[in-house]
Amino acid sequence: MSDINQLLDEFHQIAADPAGAVARWKKETGKGAVGILPVYAPEEMVHATGFLPVGIWGGHVEISEARAFLPAFACSIMQSIMEFAIKGVYDDLTAVLISSPCDTLKCFGQKWKGKCPAIQFVQPQNRVLDAANVFLAEEYRVVRAKLESVTGVVITDEALENSIHIYNANRAEMRRFTILARKHPELISPAARHDVIKSRYFMEKSAHTKKVRELNDLLSQQPDKVWPGKKVVLTGITAEPTEMLNMFAKAGFAVVADDLAHESRQFSHDVPEGGSPLYRLAKWWTTLESCSLATDRHKRRIDTLMDTIYSTAADGVIVCMMKFCDPEEFDYPIIFKRLQAAHIPVLYLEIDQAADSFEQIRTKIQSFTEML
Ligand code: SF4
Repeated sequence: MSDINQLLDEFHQIAADPAGAVARWKKETGKGAVGILPVYAPEEMVHATGFLPVGIWGGHVEISEARAFLPAFACSIMQSIMEFAIKGVYDDLTAVLISSPCDTLKCFGQKWKGKCPAIQFVQPQNRVLDAANVFLAEEYRVVRAKLESVTGVVITDEALENSIHIYNANRAEMRRFTILARKHPELISPAARHDVIKSRYFMEKSAHTKKVRELNDLLSQQPDKVWPGKKVVLTGITAEPTEMLNMFAKAGFAVVADDLAHESRQFSHDVPEGGSPLYRLAKWWTTLESCSLATDRHKRRIDTLMDTIYSTAADGVIVCMMKFCDPEEFDYPIIFKRLQAAHIPVLYLEIDQAADSFEQIRTKIQSFTEML
């Protein structure tokens, strides 16, 4: 048990200190880091250069200067990223990759205020034609050329295939972790689960896989226990801040699964086999399912969510709604209608990264606990 706790503590330290991770990487390898903004980017390309891909998902900060560049109704996550960029938090990065699946992100590359260059690309929303793969592979070819220029490293197909292999192995181990975390909520609290997942944004992926595998092997040896509290599924963009996750734990909630862009959506499926590495990376996007950012006129995300609720015997769903995130807000009425029809309790929490007070969230969680 102490080994498990020690590993969880290590994941926590890494998740809580991205700047430390970048500094260590630079010291150990002599190479820099490239920031990866939400939501999905071909990180494998950065990995193939030997630079460290670092996830940038905002954080708690008072928004002041960012207001000059983003409207007040831009989502909270991008407001905080803008504020951090202006304050120089990302000045150590060699470049940032910016995808553009929502309106806020579409303009973000032009507004980028960090010192390093922004490499923006478009992931097509018509994902049913093979032309989408061809188009996106071409976009990625441009991204590759720009990355080669800023890092000074040639990205060969062989290096890219190797990185894809490393990332797919990490995705598989992460899926295994989420299953084991579900079986052992007495050992993996909501915040610890989040730390293990979040730490993958700040570690070289084969090193992260090794550490998660170590944890998974230990968890798989633990005896099954009946969880006395309630089981919930999280859906949305992110379940941060950690204060909220700690409130879940205090309320006796076990997170048995998630459908968060920041968490499971990142590793829900592998980069498919077949074709050139850039084509394969493009196919990862066109085969991504159950995400508000990837157009699906059948909205199978809701079916997947219902399947998850039933297969995990969850007692309820917590919608972690990023403030002013249009794609998630558009999905919410459909999600709510289906959950209501199936008599599945749902709690709607608004996520504002700039918030200082969590009293409203605490009250809502208490009411939800009583309802369950
Ligand atoms: S949180 Fe929503 S609106 Fe903001 S960048 Fe992500 S997808 Fe776009």
